[in-house]
Amino acid sequence: MTKIEGEGEFLCPSCGNMISPEDESNLNYEIIDVKTDSRGRLKELLIVCKKCGSKIRLEGFELLAKLEDLEESDEMSEEIEE
Ligand SMILES: [Zn+2]
Repeated sequence: MTKIEGEGEFLCPSCGNMISPEDESNLNYEIIDVKTDSRGRLKELLIVCKKCGSKIRLEGFELLAKLEDLEESDEMSEEIEE
């Protein structure tokens, strides 16, 4: 199983098949497992390449979640000031 961190499109490590999150045709890959944290935010995706059958684990969504947390806390402090 191959581990890839980050987001966006990438090439299958085994066959070079382009795998893009914007591709909704289900021809290049299929999502077989989705893991979310306690607040329901995306944490991990397990996908399978339809060309070669490789399973690819996608991680790195936690950083985005942390950024969202920072924005939320900014909004809260603004409310307190008012
Ligand atoms: Zn592949």
